[in-house]
Amino acid sequence: MKTSNGVKKQKKPQSPEKSKPKDHRELGRELDLFSFHEVSPGAPFWHYKGMLIVKALEKFIRELQDKHGYEEISTPIMVKKELFEKSGHWEFFKDDMFYFKAGTETYALKPMNCPESALVYQTRTRSYRDLPLRLAEIGRLHRNELSGVLGGLLRVRQITMDDAHIYCRFDQIKSELVSVLKMTEEFYKRLGLPVVYGLATRPKKAMGSVKTWKEAEKLLGEALEELGLKYQTLKGEGAFYGPKIHFDIKDSLDRTWTIATAQLDFQIPERFQLEYIDADGQAKRPVIIHRAIFGSFERFIGILLEHFKGALPFWLSPVQVAVLAINDQVTDYSKKVFEALKNKNVRAELDLRNESVGKKIREAELQKIPYLLIIGEKEAASEKVAVRERGKGDIGQKTLEEFWEIIK
Ligand SMILES: [Zn+2]
Repeated sequence: MKTSNGVKKQKKPQSPEKSKPKDHRELGRELDLFSFHEVSPGAPFWHYKGMLIVKALEKFIRELQDKHGYEEISTPIMVKKELFEKSGHWEFFKDDMFYFKAGTETYALKPMNCPESALVYQTRTRSYRDLPLRLAEIGRLHRNELSGVLGGLLRVRQITMDDAHIYCRFDQIKSELVSVLKMTEEFYKRLGLPVVYGLATRPKKAMGSVKTWKEAEKLLGEALEELGLKYQTLKGEGAFYGPKIHFDIKDSLDRTWTIATAQLDFQIPERFQLEYIDADGQAKRPVIIHRAIFGSFERFIGILLEHFKGALPFWLSPVQVAVLAINDQVTDYSKKVFEALKNKNVRAELDLRNESVGKKIREAELQKIPYLLIIGEKEAASEKVAVRERGKGDIGQKTLEEFWEIIK
């Protein structure tokens, strides 16, 4: 394109904001959620507001687990290497583990929760009536990712997992998988993220008989079909110790993430000689289903931040409502509104600074706060608040009662 003076007009460069969505690390900095420090590569330092997101996720997953009959446990982070020799991790996974000598013993930081969960199972004689036993653990794991491949929250060395191990009889596999899938659907529905399912079948090198594998794969498929969930068969992509269901999500940037899995395991029950006493009085092996609904808190929060471009849904937002006072005349009423929000367990912030209301609104909007309640003398006199909703702008004056109805 030529302008009147004949100078070739440069195409205006797109603003970086439009051309490239923000990296979660940048959002984490702007929203004051977490930081990384050289002294601990691959492990986030969660700040106050980041922890509010972690806690909201924890709360939701715990509610779901309670509803679906889980028992929550907590096991040590540091364990003698003998445990992982027994589980097989030492042989297959040693290079990805952190371990060290303390006195004459070698200790490891657990890379997975399963072996310790199996020890809890073994503390009692289990009968067929005790099963399924669903042991959940929000466990903190460490895996030795090469420092070159670490990348913010998406690839970390310290992983906090919404993990669980379900100990069940073979005839309970299907109903347990159905229950896991229901939880998964409920969880992702709340985020508005549809899940894409995959069924990963027997790889070439696998433990156990082909017949058992075939039966197990059939049960996984039937569980998915019972809930009318579409899935892809991923041939040969199961782990060597059992087939699994993959939970993938597609984010707003059209990227597909394998978030978590439900995985059958015939190996750990064998290695740990796990038993239950069946109705006929015989000792039998239970099956383990390893399952996580969203996998790692770190990675999942990183994905959510990028997916929502920092504007998390109301229930996950670290600050849900900001109360902005226009001037000193309305301090008392603003405090009263703020206290009322707190009493309703709304995560609120009160801005009484001596700044223009325009600046206060701009800053609160940059913090992606879902609702701003602006209070001037008119609002104070009528015991109302002027509400601004994220993405919508001004939605008018409301009483607090009317505002509860909106955010309920
Ligand atoms: Zn496990």
